[in-house]
Amino acid sequence: MVPFVLEKANDIEAAIASAVAGGRYIAGGTTLVDLMREEVERPERLIDINALPLRDIHVDGGDLVLGALATMADIAAHPDVQRLHPMIAESLIEGASPQLRNMASIGGNLLQRVRCPYFRMLDAACNKRNPGSGCAALEGLNAGHAVLGTSSHCVSTHPSDVAVAFVALGAIMRVRGHQGERSFAVEDLFRLPGDTPHREHTLLPGELIVEIRVPSAPYGRRARYLKVRDRASYEFALVSAAVALEVEDGVIRS
Ligand SMILES: Cc1cc2nc3c(=O)[nH]c(=O)nc-3n(C[C@H](O)[C@H](O)[C@H](O)COP(=O)(O)OP(=O)(O)OC[C@H]3O[C@@H](n4cnc5c(N)ncnc54)[C@H](O)[C@@H]3O)c2cc1C
Ligand code: SF4
Repeated sequence: MVPFVLEKANDIEAAIASAVAGGRYIAGGTTLVDLMREEVERPERLIDINALPLRDIHVDGGDLVLGALATMADIAAHPDVQRLHPMIAESLIEGASPQLRNMASIGGNLLQRVRCPYFRMLDAACNKRNPGSGCAALEGLNAGHAVLGTSSHCVSTHPSDVAVAFVALGAIMRVRGHQGERSFAVEDLFRLPGDTPHREHTLLPGELIVEIRVPSAPYGRRARYLKVRDRASYEFALVSAAVALEVEDGVIRS
């Protein structure tokens, strides 16, 4: 692992200022530390954001609001989540392992990196890790890769389960940067690989995910997440689908 400096952020503005200056946020560390060990990621400065007040899970005007530091386990077990949007709990429980879910934050989940094996092999061609080097997965092991939205530069897919549920439910994320706050659909966080697969998301440098807001909707309770994978647990999806239906008198309205 390449040496790095670890600093603890005690307030949001200080954390953002540090990230704008080149630091990297760390929450549960279940993605980032793995990648640092393998030297795929080499941040020089980590900003531990775990002391920030971003863990709350509550209902606001009918919307479900999830703080960015709420863990996968806490969200899945929360009674308001199970009551209003059981599909979110379902998609979280289908992911990772109990130990990981206890550590992993929902903000970090959305920003986890791809599971393509070549991304993690420093001697393999990978445009995402090393732009311009090629894509070993095109002719290599690619059973878990994407069939839609691919490009000739990268065929990886985003591994988050709950992101699929959030997109189906029209969830909105609130982020804060040094120029203030903005909100946008979770769907708009993710970029297709195109010819710049190393650019994975639409956050600006230093922007911090503050919360995810899932709008109140009747279809929230009539929704399912289905994940197909090589083994029954502790495995990423080969394919998954999230569906939410609004049904009135036996007729699907939306
Ligand atoms: C063995 C294994 C199996 C897994 N299986 C699954 C699975 O089946 N399904 C699934 O969905 N996931 C799975 N995961 C992924 C897991 O859910 C993620 O590792 C976890 O959610 C990441 O959260 P974290 O808090 O640990 O993130 P970190 O590792 O702390 O951070 C990840 C990234 O997010 C950034 N970040 C974190 N918080 C914020 C914030 N608030 N604002 C801005 N940037 C932020 C960090 O800078 C970093 O780039 C698996 C992981 C492992 C190791
Ligand atoms: S699919 Fe993407 S992540 Fe995998 S080797 Fe190709 S460029 Fe790299």
